[in-house]
Amino acid sequence: MQTPAAFEYDRAATVGEALALLERHGPETRLIAGGHSLLPMMKLRLARPERLVDINPISELSYIRLEGMELVIGAMTRHAQLLASAELLRNYPIFADAERVIADPVVRNRGTIGGSLCQGDPAEDLSAVVCALRAQLVIRSSNGARTVAAREFYLGPYETQVGPAEMLTEVRIPLRRGTGSAYEKVERRTGDWAIAAVGCFVTLEGERVSDVGIGLAAVNAPGFAAEEAEAALRGQPAAPENLARAADLAAVSCRPQSDQRGPEEYKRHLVGELTRRALARAVRRAGQGGA
Ligand SMILES: Cc1cc2nc3c(=O)[nH]c(=O)nc-3n(C[C@H](O)[C@H](O)[C@H](O)COP(=O)(O)OP(=O)(O)OC[C@H]3O[C@@H](n4cnc5c(N)ncnc54)[C@H](O)[C@@H]3O)c2cc1C
Repeated sequence: MQTPAAFEYDRAATVGEALALLERHGPETRLIAGGHSLLPMMKLRLARPERLVDINPISELSYIRLEGMELVIGAMTRHAQLLASAELLRNYPIFADAERVIADPVVRNRGTIGGSLCQGDPAEDLSAVVCALRAQLVIRSSNGARTVAAREFYLGPYETQVGPAEMLTEVRIPLRRGTGSAYEKVERRTGDWAIAAVGCFVTLEGERVSDVGIGLAAVNAPGFAAEEAEAALRGQPAAPENLARAADLAAVSCRPQSDQRGPEEYKRHLVGELTRRALARAVRRAGQGGA
């Protein structure tokens, strides 16, 4: 089936307009951002919204900027902007690492961070990134704004905390001095979804890991995170044996499923190896004067 079912179409130029349209037309109305997840689902009839609200004209949601000790990203910021941002590269190179291996330039030119996170696909790379970084996500409705921790944003596959009359507007990431970050992914071919992927940040105080965040994609990790591995590494010297121990914990604590991308055991093996590599790279970057 290559053609979506018929739908009504509106364009919103501001967040207020989009929210008013969602409220007026009810739960069968969906926002459309880059359309790279929603349109394929509509063509396959896995999604049949009665009305789309196109939020591409909302330029107020397209930004990457520093606000005090936070890096904030508007929901309509495109993958290509995340990849090109000097601010992100300086503070969190994990974004550039991840963006280089998300899809292809055509998808990256249109797809947005807001759409990626709200799609809630268990293999979404940016979900692992924001969960690794313990970002906060700002959700707005016509009654105001609420903030949800990225790790609590997902209710299950393709299900998030964003209600039918709400929209995600912003991602807020704390800046951490002495921090390095990295993303590692294995895919079947260039531009494909992950077989498994791991993102992390490491904050060093001297030789010691004072804080760490580890995000996992495509392996069914609660909150896209490896919290036991983080707890084991926090406070320890950033020595290879400690990184390896955390990596082993990440591999046992996730819950990958065998599918066309590979058997469970292979995915666990990847998580262990990719976690070890990502942590080592993040430690090196922290030592080179990361943000
Ligand atoms: C060929 C191909 C390969 C891909 N490969 C990868 C990959 O390797 N890794 C990866 O991570 N992704 C991959 N993607 C997905 C890509 O990252 C999409 O851009 C992303 O999933 C969705 O972003 P979008 O802006 O296109 O969202 P849309 O498709 O417009 O929307 C997705 C969902 O989010 C909702 N939504 C959108 N914006 C908001 C908002 N601000 N608030 C509330 N709800 C909102 C929509 O209603 C819809 O339900 C791939 C896509 C394609 C087509």
